[in-house]
Amino acid sequence: MSDWLGQKVGIYGLGKTGHACVEYLAPRMVRPLVLVDNTAADELARLQSAAEDRYDLIAGEQAIRIVTELDTLIISPGVPLSNPNIAAALASGVNVISELEFASRYCEGYLIGITGTNGKSTTTVMLGHILSALGPCHVLGNIGSPLLASLDEIEPNDFVALEVSSYQLEAIDSFAPRIAVYTNLTPDHLDRHGTVEEYTRIKRKMVANMQEGDFVITNALCSEFHPDTFNRPDLHYLQYRSTPGNRLRGAWLANDRIIVDLGSEGAEIPLDCIRIPGLHNVENAMAAILASLLVGATGETIIERLSTFKGYEHRIEFCREAGGIRFYNDSKATNPEATIIALRAMEGPLAIILGGRDKLTDLSVLIGLLRQKAGHVILYGEAAERLEREIRSSGYNNVSRVDDVEQSVHEGVRLLGTGGGTLLLSPACASFDQYPGFDVRGEHFKQIVSSLEFD
Ligand code: ADP
Repeated sequence: MSDWLGQKVGIYGLGKTGHACVEYLAPRMVRPLVLVDNTAADELARLQSAAEDRYDLIAGEQAIRIVTELDTLIISPGVPLSNPNIAAALASGVNVISELEFASRYCEGYLIGITGTNGKSTTTVMLGHILSALGPCHVLGNIGSPLLASLDEIEPNDFVALEVSSYQLEAIDSFAPRIAVYTNLTPDHLDRHGTVEEYTRIKRKMVANMQEGDFVITNALCSEFHPDTFNRPDLHYLQYRSTPGNRLRGAWLANDRIIVDLGSEGAEIPLDCIRIPGLHNVENAMAAILASLLVGATGETIIERLSTFKGYEHRIEFCREAGGIRFYNDSKATNPEATIIALRAMEGPLAIILGGRDKLTDLSVLIGLLRQKAGHVILYGEAAERLEREIRSSGYNNVSRVDDVEQSVHEGVRLLGTGGGTLLLSPACASFDQYPGFDVRGEHFKQIVSSLEFD
C-alpha cells in the first residue's frame, strides 16, 4: 500500500467509519489527516489526545483551508456532498470518495450488495447466515461494521454480504458488487437527498459499475427498481414477488411455498421454514434465497439455514410479556413505512410509541392505519408536535404527549391498564434527537421494560 505514502489523504469525520479509515491508513502512510467540523471544544480535545502521533487532527478554519489541497478525501456516510467544505474540495478537483468506494478498491471478496429503503439489514444478515454454510462469509457495511475494518481478514472470493446505504453510494466511482439486491423503495432520507427521484437515482448507482452478465435481484412490486429503470441491458435481472401473479424469472409465492425459477434451475422452499414474522420477511427471504442460489447454495441448504435464522434485533423484537402486556421493540422503524409494517403485524389492543427526530415524510397512510389498529398513540421527542397536529387533524384524539421513551413506556402501561394488550415502540422517526442511534434507543426501551414491576 505504498501508493498512499506520497499522497495527502484526508478523512472527513471521526465516527465509526472515520475510525476504520484511520486504523487502515495510519500504518500505511506517514500520517493521515483527519478533518472534523462542528465538534465541540471538549470533544475536540479528547480526539486530539486520542490521536497521539498516529494521525493529525485538523478542525475549524484550518480544516476548511486544507480540504482543497488534498489528493483524496474519504468522507463518512454522515457527511453529505452538499457540505460546503466537501463542495469546496470537489470544486478544487479533490478525489472525494466514500469509505465504501475506498475499501472496495482493495477487497478481493465476492461482494453481494444489498440496498433499498427497508429490509436491508434483515436480508443481509439472513443471506450471511445462509452463505456461511457454503464457506467464509463476512456480514459488513451499513449494518454496523465498515468493509474497510475487515479488509485484512477477507480472503479472495470469501463471500461478503454488504449492506449498502444511499449515503455511501453518493460518493462512489468504481464500487461494483457481483450481485446487487434491491429490497424496495419508499420516500426516506429526504432531508439529505431532497427528492424521491434523487434518492432513487443514488440507489440505482449500485449497478453502475457492475460487469456485463452480473446479476441484479429486485422486488417486482417496486416500480422504481424495475429492470428497465437501470439502463443496463447487459446485466441479468431476477425478480421476486410476495403476491400472486404471473410467473417470474426469479421467485414468487404459491400457497405454502416459495417457487424459484432461475431458468436453468429451480427450487421450492416451504414458507414455514421462515421463522420471523410478517410478509415483509418473506420478501427478505426471497431476496436472500435468490442470491444464495446464484452462488451455489442448494434448496436443502437454504431450507436448513432459514429454519435456524431467528431474526435481527430491534426489528419487531419481542421483549417481554408481563402484567398482561406484550412489549415489542421495533426501534429500527425509523420511517413511517416500517411502522406501517409493524402495525399490520399486530393484533388486539395496542398502544404505540411514536417520535424522535422528524424526517418530514408523508404521514397519511400511517395515520389511516393508526386509526384502525391503535387504541392509544404516545408521542415523544422532536417530532411529537407535528405528529400530534397531523394525527388530531385526522379526527383521532387518543393521543398522549410525553418527553422521552421512559415516560412513554409508563404512559403505555397506564393506558393499557388491567385489560392488557401490546405496547409497541415503532417510532417512525430517527432516534438522533435523544440517542446516538436506533440501537441505543431500542436497548434503552428494553432496559426500561425489563425493569418494570407488576403486582
Ligand atoms: P433496513 O436495514 O433497510 O433499515 P431492517 O431489516 O433493519 O431494514 O428492517 C427495518 C424495519 O423495516 C423492520 O423493522 C420492518 O418494520 C421493516 N421491513 C423489514 N423488511 C422489510 C421489507 N422487505 N419491506 C418493507 N419493510 C420492511
